[in-house]
Formats: sequence, C-alpha cells, structure tokens
Amino acid sequence: MSRVIRCMMMSAVALAAALSVAATPLPQQAAGTAAASDSYSMADFARVRKYDAHVHANAPGTAFLEQARADGFELLSINVDYPDFPSVARQHELALAFAAKDPVHFHWATTFSMKGFGTPGWTERVNAGVARDVAKGALAVKIWKNVGLVEKDAKGKLIMLDDPGLAPVAEKIRSLGVALIDHQGEPRNCWLPLDQMTTDNDREYFSKHPEYYMYLHPDMPGYEDLMAARDRFVAKHPKLRFVGAHLASLEYDVDRIAAFLDRFPNATVDMAARMSQVQYQSVRDREKVRNFFIRYQDRVLYGTDLTFTADADPAQFRREAHAVWGSDWRYLATGETQRVDMIHADVAGLALPRAVIDKIYYANARRVFAVPRPAG
Ligand SMILES: [Zn+2]
Repeated sequence: MSRVIRCMMMSAVALAAALSVAATPLPQQAAGTAAASDSYSMADFARVRKYDAHVHANAPGTAFLEQARADGFELLSINVDYPDFPSVARQHELALAFAAKDPVHFHWATTFSMKGFGTPGWTERVNAGVARDVAKGALAVKIWKNVGLVEKDAKGKLIMLDDPGLAPVAEKIRSLGVALIDHQGEPRNCWLPLDQMTTDNDREYFSKHPEYYMYLHPDMPGYEDLMAARDRFVAKHPKLRFVGAHLASLEYDVDRIAAFLDRFPNATVDMAARMSQVQYQSVRDREKVRNFFIRYQDRVLYGTDLTFTADADPAQFRREAHAVWGSDWRYLATGETQRVDMIHADVAGLALPRAVIDKIYYANARRVFAVPRPAG
C-alpha cells in the first residue's frame, strides 16, 4: 500500500517539475494553419476570460486569488481526500472562506471519504454530506484515484469505481445537478517500460524510484483494468455530468481521448497536469492535436493542478502560477514556439481559433460547473 501512495505522489512531482520549467519563449513563428487574426496573441492573455477548472487552494492567503484576478482567471478548487493535503474538513473550511471572499473568481468542488464504505449508514452519510455541500455552493464532487488503487472493501479487495456501492452516490450527485470529477489511475507511463515512456520527467522519476513504478508491480490493477472500470461506471450513469480529470488518464493519445468522448456524450475531460503529454504528441503531429481540440472544442476544460500550500512563498507562487498559465496560453492560443524542457523539445503553439479558446478556457467550464438546477 505504501508504494501505491508514493506512486500517486507522481503527479505532485510532475507538477513541481512543470513549475520549475519557466518555458522560454522563442522568437515568434507564423502560425502556419491559422490566420493571425483568427487566433489570440500573448497580448490578449490577461484580458480574455478564463477558467482554471482544476486547482487546489489548500492554504489561506490571497496570493492565488490575486494572481487569478490579475491574469483573468476564475478558479475551481477541488477538495480531495488525499493524505498529503490538509484534512477534507480543513479544505472544506478554506473553500467556504475563499468563496465568501470572492464568489466571482472562486468556485469549489467537494469530496467525501471512502472510510466505512460498505458498512451500514455509509451511503446515507455520504449522500447527506454531498447534498449539504452543494447547498453551500459546491459545483462538483470529486472522486480520487484512491478508488481503484488504495481503498479496500471488508474482504480486502480494492474498491473499483464501478463497484455497485458507489452507484447510489453517483445517482445522488446526478440528482443534485452537479458534476462528478473523477481522477482514475495514473498516467499510462507508470505502467510502461522506461524506453516506452513519453516524457523525460516520468522516465527519470521511475528509473530512480522503482518502488513507485507500477510496471514492476503486476499484482496491482493494470492501466486497462482501471480504464475499463471507469468506462463501465460512466456507461452506467449516462445522465451524470462526468468530468475525467487529467484527460481521463488517456493523456498519451488524443485518438483515445476522442474515442472516450465519442462513446460518452455526458463526459468532458480536464487538462490538468498533462500539458506536456499533449505537447509530446503535437511535436510529432501538430495538425492532429490541433484538429482534436477543434473537433472536441465543447468537451475539453482547461486546468492546471496548481496547488497553493501553507509553506508556499506567496510571491513565488504568484510568479509560478503566472508562468504556467502564460506558457499554456502560448501553446494553445498562439502560434509561438517555446522550449519545453520536460520533453526536450521546441513546441509550436496550436494557434487555436479564438472561438475554440473561448470554449476550452471558459464557456465549457461555466456550462459543466453551472450553479445546480436539481433534476429531481
Ligand atoms: Zn488535482
């Protein structure tokens, strides 16, 4: 179990790596496929309305909100039952305080504990908690990857997302009219031989930490087992607004994300902490990746996984958040090329049409995380 928890730290490590790479802009290049007037420039960054649909505001202090306002972002801060985060109760308290301070820029998602799953009263307790939090303003409910990789039932078996015991909770979330955000498994690299991994940060990390590396632990659920359990769950709840966090853990192949979105019309995906995986593909076939975003312009939510912690230096955090947001904008919205150290490549921007950027960066999140209208 401890190795699983360590493996799950990967995304935090990957994010730290992402933050340390203040991508250096290279001289501007022509967008190639998009007329300059059809796409935004870096000068448009701060003024265009944007929504970071996946962050964690885990400490008091105004740094995160101040930078969001300066850069034109609203935030969705997602509470998670994650041992390295403050307690769920503390995250809840912080979310309510931030939302009271700035309800225009700050939104939040609640979560629930799996402790006691399968015992009498668990379902009622969780459903009551979710309903109470939605009444207090939560716009979504998060299920984390502890479902599938950590939490076990009374018989000692890992609880998978499609366990019948989770169905009444999913039904409750649907009836409350809010979205379910699900983080399933890990990046596919975690299960691959080193020479097949797509990004250097994963390769270096797993070669130094074999104990965290799922490829070496065939006793744990495989990547496809987790994806299949998630797909069965989404299929079972066709009216639930389902958000697959981290590109639904299908980050390695836009065709696979497309197939998921085609199969499940009620699903969207957020991009949190997986930009380098997308860039890896776009270095090889920019048009393919660009066409993916254009085709699925209503189904993708911009997100970063930026996490503000109690030990963060506020000024430093603001610089890092600004750098990450700026780098992502350069890639998605403009035709400029930048160096991305994580994949050792110069990555040309996609110069997505303005109308597509407006959806991915704002309208989709506003639709998916709308103030709930209970479906009854
Ligand atoms: Zn996250």
